[in-house]
Amino acid sequence: MAHVKLHIPGPVEVSDKTFQAFRKPMIGHRGQGFKDLYAKIQPQLQQLLYTKQLVYISTSSAWGVMEGAIRNLVAKKVLNCMCGAFSDKWFDVSKRCGKDAEALQAPWGSPIRAEAVDAKLATGQFDALTVIHNETSTGVMSPLAEIAALKKKYPDVMFIVDSVSSMTATKIEFDALGIDVLLAGTQKAFALPPGTALFVCSPAALAKAATIKDRGYYFDFVEFQKNAEQSMTPSTPSIGHVYALESKLEDIFAEGLEARYARHQKLAGMTRAWAAKHGFVLFPEAGFESVTLTCISNGARPGGRVVDVPKLQKLVKDQGFLIDGGYGKIKGATFRISNMGDETEATMNQLYAALDNAMKQL
Ligand SMILES: *Cc1c(COP(=O)(O)O)cnc(C)c1O
Repeated sequence: MAHVKLHIPGPVEVSDKTFQAFRKPMIGHRGQGFKDLYAKIQPQLQQLLYTKQLVYISTSSAWGVMEGAIRNLVAKKVLNCMCGAFSDKWFDVSKRCGKDAEALQAPWGSPIRAEAVDAKLATGQFDALTVIHNETSTGVMSPLAEIAALKKKYPDVMFIVDSVSSMTATKIEFDALGIDVLLAGTQKAFALPPGTALFVCSPAALAKAATIKDRGYYFDFVEFQKNAEQSMTPSTPSIGHVYALESKLEDIFAEGLEARYARHQKLAGMTRAWAAKHGFVLFPEAGFESVTLTCISNGARPGGRVVDVPKLQKLVKDQGFLIDGGYGKIKGATFRISNMGDETEATMNQLYAALDNAMKQL
């Protein structure tokens, strides 16, 4: 069936193999069949996230778990590191959950700096910290390893990391980095349909959650752990997603993790080269460009080319591809091209050909 192929930064293109798995006949979520399925994929999920902890499956989008992390882990005050639309919104979520929260704002296009986080945590005011590894609105990857290294000085501060648009595309060693909660939605680099999130908690996070009142019901992390110990989820999960995940993990380990990381790196580099070839400059600060998507300046930065982005999008869409026209306050002043999921050099070259063709008509 012909369709417009998604090169927006989520949801992304879902393969036929994944959809075949997704539409398997239903099973009961308290039966042995489901337990066997979850138990089968658990070691692969642990390998993927470099952890000995149990990985949880949440039937929600990523925001559910992001809000859950705030509700489960913040008793005193949370430091929300902000550098784009998604990370900025997390501060709003903290306040809406009734938590004491402070913003650590970096300019859009810049990463979160480890030294800035360190200076804030040194005040002793905080018991939790949120960081978005790959800020999808600006195409910026923050230096997670550097932040993690300094964060180790504050073992009582819960380290909550959103890797929604980077999980599986680059190495994130949960245990070694000392992260307390790591989460992602399936519609980004996993290339599964939207509707499920995956996350993992440290023993410290589980111990802290157990002390927190009013952590809610649907996203109670203690319940996720209890159920995961039995290879189950707290409530009825999207079982189609679990089958799709089983299929996707086969793909991921057949390719190999290092090869998968290298592929994302290479493809993002190809998109940056395409942008340079056409006289565009990139929106992210040099050295912090994402490996899963490219955020191209269209007037947001000095010096680069400026085009009619809606027209570019239409010309590309007429050839069967959807690209993104920029997000939040930089909509139109940037546009974004995703290479996350199952893309290859060949499929990206098809997109660049369509983009080249569109550029001739602008
Ligand atoms: C997409 C995205 C989200 C929101 O995910 P939902 O699945 O819509 O809840 C959060 N953070 C980042 C970095 C994202 O890219």
